[in-house]
Amino acid sequence: MAVALYPGSFDPVTYGHIDVIRRASSLFDSLTVAVLNNGAKSPLFSVDERVNMLRDVCRDIPGIKVESFSGLTADYVQNHGYDVIIRGLRAVTDFEYELQMAQTNRKLAPGADTVFLTTSLEYAYLSSTTVKEVAYYGGDISQFVPENIAALIFEKFDKK
Ligand code: ADP
Repeated sequence: MAVALYPGSFDPVTYGHIDVIRRASSLFDSLTVAVLNNGAKSPLFSVDERVNMLRDVCRDIPGIKVESFSGLTADYVQNHGYDVIIRGLRAVTDFEYELQMAQTNRKLAPGADTVFLTTSLEYAYLSSTTVKEVAYYGGDISQFVPENIAALIFEKFDKK
């Protein structure tokens, strides 16, 4: 029984993340998506908002849990007995950082392995950062995120 954790910032969740979640959920017995509460970044959405957005977009995918955590992913993985860390790979640019993280996590949490899912081609260009940039200038983000998430992003920028 392999239990997997998909950690990330998800600020905000995009169709690229949802694609990884769907595919990972069919590969493992259980999948938890975990929002990292990273003090070093200044996110657009609070951790609670990101957890709620993920719960909403994952509601039709059976057996997905959404949580949040602070601190090292390796500690979280070890303390909760996860076997697998899921990460998505879009392009060579992701590779170097992801490889380093995977190797570091393997040293810190030897009981777990990182499994990479390569992005579906239609989402290869997609990142939360790009979505925020396009939305900031009032562009159309309907191809990047579900409608209700797009509304929340525009609401955030309207308030700023
Ligand atoms: P990070 O965890 O580095 O802050 P994100 O929250 O944006 O970044 O992403 C979490 C994980 O999902 C990372 O492994 C990232 O490479 C992956 N990911 C992000 N966007 C996509 C996409 N469009 N297709 C596949 N994987 C993606």
